Amino acid sequence: MQKKLSIYIHYPFCKSKCPYCDFNSHVRDNVEYEKFTNAYLQEIEFFADRLKNRTIKTIFFGGGTPSLMPIAMVEKILEKISSSWNVEKDCEITLETNPTSFESDKFKSLKLAGINRLSVGIQALNDADLKFLGREHSAKEAISVIKKAAEIFDNFSFDLIYARPTQTLESWRAELKQALEFNANHLSLYQLTIEKGTKFFSEFKQKKFIMPDENLSADFYEMTNQITSDAGFKLYEISNYAKKNFECQHNLVYWQGGDYVGIGAGAHSRVFLDGEKNRRAIMMTHEPLAWLSGVEKNGAAIQTNDIISTYELTEELILMALRLKNGIENKIFYEILQKNLTEVFDYEKLEKLANQGLIKIDSDSIKIKDDKRILTNAIIAKVCGAIYQ
Ligand code: SF4
Repeated sequence: MQKKLSIYIHYPFCKSKCPYCDFNSHVRDNVEYEKFTNAYLQEIEFFADRLKNRTIKTIFFGGGTPSLMPIAMVEKILEKISSSWNVEKDCEITLETNPTSFESDKFKSLKLAGINRLSVGIQALNDADLKFLGREHSAKEAISVIKKAAEIFDNFSFDLIYARPTQTLESWRAELKQALEFNANHLSLYQLTIEKGTKFFSEFKQKKFIMPDENLSADFYEMTNQITSDAGFKLYEISNYAKKNFECQHNLVYWQGGDYVGIGAGAHSRVFLDGEKNRRAIMMTHEPLAWLSGVEKNGAAIQTNDIISTYELTEELILMALRLKNGIENKIFYEILQKNLTEVFDYEKLEKLANQGLIKIDSDSIKIKDDKRILTNAIIAKVCGAIYQ
């Protein structure tokens, strides 16, 4: 059986920079589309030479704002992937989009190009909060784009950011219920976090706004889980909710430790290259023009290329898998590390965490208890402490 591979394409440009965003996104007036298209194709070729005989399971266009890509760029990238590898018949091909009419006018062409899943960055359904979040769209525009996405794509998701300053539980309840009326089959619901290096980080330090405290954040989370569950969504990852069979297959590859290749400025790969025993962590050059010239010179603009030790790989797998409702599964762990959970973990230490009510364990899996999900980061650190040294 051919080994599966997923592909992430990073488009690093946005129309403006949102104040909470710490992604590799840049605002540029003029993008040399042809040069960038060729660079994507070259980088795909670079990896295809080192990852022969793979079957592509998922493709994800992220950013930045990949819906700003010309359709021809998307088409050429997908054609190149198809001519370089076998692509599974039901390969999930997602593209992230902003909710403006400029983008929704392209939905039909994107579908014809091969995109079969859309992820729409709505973030809020009222104009005051959209303005606070620095978004360029209005709530009205967002709603009309969601409706258009629903008409054209069977599989679509949208993102909302909650636990915003001044937001109350009641206003979030009403907003989330409104969001559920649009019949999406997947929702990504993130609590607003203040990341270093963002505009919000300095404004928060200057006390320009106040964030909800821990207790209120926990109440927001619990309410979100309850309302989505009542509406038939399953929480399958800490911030992701899906109707049955609509989990994002691409993100599951990250969380379950699958092989993926990241193409484009600042993209990351985690992959066993052909003939290698160890997994590699590869990161491409961040700055888009430096990335472009790196690819033009060398076929790929690699900034770092490291072998991951078994210990690091184990930690990564824990970090990712514990975000999932199903937690760390023995069969997945075994496939990647050729070791059972009982060989990797000191179960006496894990039992102590279980007795504290933080996790559920058996020989097949380690999971965070549902009511402790808000403590995920702290619990991950504790579970890592139970790895045999
Ligand atoms: S649109 Fe997305 S990637 Fe671009 S700046 Fe805003 S949050 Fe960041």
